[in-house]
Amino acid sequence: MEESVVSQPDVALAEYERIVGSEVIEQLFQLAKPLRGKRIVHVNSTRTGGGVAEILTKMVPFTRALGIDASWEVIAGRNEFYQCTKSFHNALQGNHVTIPTAQLKVFEEVNAINAELLRPVLNDADVVIIHDPQPAPLITQFPNRRGRWIWRCHIDVSKPYRHVWQYLRVFISKYDASVFSLAAFAQPMPHPVCLIAPSIDPLSAKNAELSAEEINGIHRQLGLDPARRTILQVSRFDRFKDPVGVVEAYRLAKRFAPDLQLILAGGGATDDPEGAAVLNEVHTAAAEDPDIHVLELPADAHRTINALQRTADIVLQKSTREGFGLTVTEALWKGKPVIGGNTGGIRLQVIDHHTGFLVNTPEGAAHRIRYLLHHRDKAEEMGRKGREFVRVNFLLTRHLCDYLSLILLLESGDSNRVELRRIA
Ligand code: UDP
Repeated sequence: MEESVVSQPDVALAEYERIVGSEVIEQLFQLAKPLRGKRIVHVNSTRTGGGVAEILTKMVPFTRALGIDASWEVIAGRNEFYQCTKSFHNALQGNHVTIPTAQLKVFEEVNAINAELLRPVLNDADVVIIHDPQPAPLITQFPNRRGRWIWRCHIDVSKPYRHVWQYLRVFISKYDASVFSLAAFAQPMPHPVCLIAPSIDPLSAKNAELSAEEINGIHRQLGLDPARRTILQVSRFDRFKDPVGVVEAYRLAKRFAPDLQLILAGGGATDDPEGAAVLNEVHTAAAEDPDIHVLELPADAHRTINALQRTADIVLQKSTREGFGLTVTEALWKGKPVIGGNTGGIRLQVIDHHTGFLVNTPEGAAHRIRYLLHHRDKAEEMGRKGREFVRVNFLLTRHLCDYLSLILLLESGDSNRVELRRIA
């Protein structure tokens, strides 16, 4: 294996090799070779909270370990900016929203200000990967850009609210390529459109093995009853995650399983202004049931979430819209059957009756909870299948392979052909 030109000693490549096999690691080095020393800059709008931050935290050091000069920049704005981008998020996932012109103006202004702050690093970059709509207009401030710019969409844009999509499309169509998580989200564009599923890092604090002692300690600290069977949903408090629907499903299932407890674990992303209102709705729905634990966790509570996922009997992700759902991947990786909303990226991961169940209603979720609590052997079999499914398809190594292939494709200047293997 070759030595990195950009040193990143904390990435334990041998550990990844143990999990994914040496061929995958070799392939990564092969893909990275023509890109060594190149600058790749990722840009998003939050350093913590939510799936994008989760991915970049590990993707960037891993890319550097391959000898590529990867970095991660975060844009920042004022309150109205986040109100506006939250409306975009809701609109792209299908809600009809009205966004005041003044907010759109702030959106564009904040991007222009951030463009100035980032100008030296973005001017210098060979590849810029812009995540989600928040920083999408940055590209307009770089008319003479040197590098390739890729827009990466992490949200469910299968049925976007047209007015908002048309507004954002003006910016997005300026990119050299765009990336969506699954075919159902791909939108017609005047440039190459790629499908790349997200991933989890099996060695992160969120996903690494934990000792029984640590898990028990975390449970004690949170006041959870180890004798009760547990269903869990981990999510930002966002209506698309349907936490209130999860409470309804729990209530229905509890009629048949009085020893059931529900854990709703969440926190806020710094770019999400609606979390507090949704959290209030959850508390109202929970109505002080002592077996419902609503946990507001800090953004760095990775080991706590890991422990909760490992001890849950069943993990739910009852979203009504979902770009991908890393929480689903995390749970499958820990050998848990997942009951997921029949939507977006959850469908890529929850293979109905194999790695879990897809549901459309709280009643459907309750029915499946009941089934899995009564059929432990089936639950375990689903868990085993889920873990292997993630190992092959949804780990960081595969994700990076896809990105590097796309970058090589763009660098080749010929969108129909890319040379991945060179004969020495
Ligand atoms: N997450 C977290 N703390 C929370 C809620 C979520 O660390 O309180 C993590 C979760 O484990 C997952 C990511 O944030 O890694 C959420 O990604 P997902 O794709 O499920 O949803 P998104 O928030 O991006 O819509």
